Amino acid sequence: ASGLLCYCRAGFEPELAAELGERAAAAGQHGYAATGRGSGYVRFLAPGADGAALSRALPWRSLVFARQKLRLLATLDGIDTSDRVTPILAALATQAGATAPAFGALVVEHPDSDAARPLAGLARALGNALRPALRKAGLLAAKDEPRRPRLHVCLLAGNHLLLAVADPADASAWPMGVPRLRLHRDAPSRSALKLDEAFQTLLDDDERTRLLRAGMTAADLGAAPGGWTWVLQRAGLHVTSVDNGPLRQHVLDAGGVEHLREDGFRWQPPRALDWMVCDMVEQPRRVASRMATWFREGWCRQAVFNLKLPMKKRWLETSLCLELFAREAGRPLELRARQLYHDREEITVLALPARGGQAGHSAAGR
Ligand code: SAM
Repeated sequence: ASGLLCYCRAGFEPELAAELGERAAAAGQHGYAATGRGSGYVRFLAPGADGAALSRALPWRSLVFARQKLRLLATLDGIDTSDRVTPILAALATQAGATAPAFGALVVEHPDSDAARPLAGLARALGNALRPALRKAGLLAAKDEPRRPRLHVCLLAGNHLLLAVADPADASAWPMGVPRLRLHRDAPSRSALKLDEAFQTLLDDDERTRLLRAGMTAADLGAAPGGWTWVLQRAGLHVTSVDNGPLRQHVLDAGGVEHLREDGFRWQPPRALDWMVCDMVEQPRRVASRMATWFREGWCRQAVFNLKLPMKKRWLETSLCLELFAREAGRPLELRARQLYHDREEITVLALPARGGQAGHSAAGR
């Protein structure tokens, strides 16, 4: 079967299904989404289609609601729970490479859902049993080769699993698509993890060193109690933190932070800044429009902002907000939008000046 397997936050399957369907159709690829509410995954099936072309039409980095994107290889249902390895090897027999093993690494995982979470122990045990068997069968490299296609086994139940493959250049490097970040004990709020994750996953290594340098300037709109301000402060940026609420004292004491008790929708910086970040809880269209004003007026070079999506039709609202932002910003920007692991009913958007000729997540492509 030709198709994709994507993971998402449990409860957001309708958003991911709508996103995949709409974007595949826009790229001339036809298929349908198969999913269950709360399951944490969506299969996008395109019988008879060229799986590689379908996958290329939906680059992982351009997807908002997918934590991971894999190409489906096989579905094994009703397998013998006393020996899961044999049917997996049989299903993969056609994948055997002519010269080198087909896969550079193996990940055994499960969707991030209440129903599947108890399978974590089984996933570990199956990984330990399967890895040597795959090597013996010549399907898996003797040592992990992170650049080669990666085999994913997604456990749905003890006797039900999906086999899929990741192109490491077009997939999350994290098992289950979930980055492992720990909350630092000095962080003023759990929200700090959101900005941390945004910088870790929406920027590449080169961009992080180039765009986040000590001495740069930033504004944080809706800053209290100071989690995002603290992340910027630790990177050495000078931060103007706008919120009527208080910031944690140790953030103010550490220096480089100015707190203004002002309205984040009205305040404007006296001079252009490198960064603006915004976590104000407000209607997403109102936030998107204000963010666009910042770019139109040239008040910041790049931004990270959250759009809260408490309503139904969250994919529709997402695409409307991104279009509105791109239109009103009035300059070529590269947008990278994703529901991060630490985002709940919200998505995070990174906006950068567009670099000539760079493919990717251009606003015009939405
Ligand atoms: N990012 C923060 C952190 O890491 O600690 C958490 C921000 S919290 C989710 C949202 C904040 O937005 C609240 O502190 C609230 O006071 C602020 N806020 C909401 N509307 C605002 C406005 N119009 N101007 C300034 N701040 C606003």
